[in-house]
Amino acid sequence: MADSSGRARLFVVSGPSGAGKGTVVAGLLQHRPDVFLSVSSTTRPARRGEVDGVNYHFVSERDFIAGRDRGDFLETAEVYGNYYGTPRALVEAALREGRDVILELDIQGALAVKRALPESVLIFIEPPSLEELFSRLRGRRTEDPDALRRRVQAAYDEVKEKGAYDHIVVNDRIEDAIAQVIRIMDAPQERTPHPGS
Ligand code: 5GP
Repeated sequence: MADSSGRARLFVVSGPSGAGKGTVVAGLLQHRPDVFLSVSSTTRPARRGEVDGVNYHFVSERDFIAGRDRGDFLETAEVYGNYYGTPRALVEAALREGRDVILELDIQGALAVKRALPESVLIFIEPPSLEELFSRLRGRRTEDPDALRRRVQAAYDEVKEKGAYDHIVVNDRIEDAIAQVIRIMDAPQERTPHPGS
């Protein structure tokens, strides 16, 4: 929902792969179809079942670098050897139209957006435990063992950084996690106290 000044707001959702970010965001959009979900560009190959233009814009490294040099991206990052970027024009247009925007980014992207737009709201989706995350990732069978190891290591690193986020949502039951994100989006700007802080 737009804030009290009527301005649309930018929300960044992060969390380790396997934490259920995508499912939480999809559930949220069913409740709030007015929200604009930005589709990133990436140079990583599409996984089975992923659709160009829906999950990502899958682009060549050459096109990505050309776009980056033109200033087409709000932020870019290199993750696991692939480039990712948030297309600037669509996000800015949605905000101008008064639509809240969600970006699904890694921590580098979240921090870059916060630096550029301090009023943006950062939400970290955390798995109930790293053991649970590991078993979800293994069950997904989309990664070879090396990539799986890298993602689990990255998950440990990301969870260590969660203190940088305005809100932390533990995705134990998906419906609860979605409800919590909706509350955050509908509330005026404030931080949810972090567990243990
Ligand atoms: P995956 O390859 O699993 O789809 O994404 C790998 C990581 O890149 C995830 O943490 C995801 O949130 C992040 N990511 C996806 N798109 C972007 C983007 O446009 N910018 C940044 N900084 N990270 C992104």
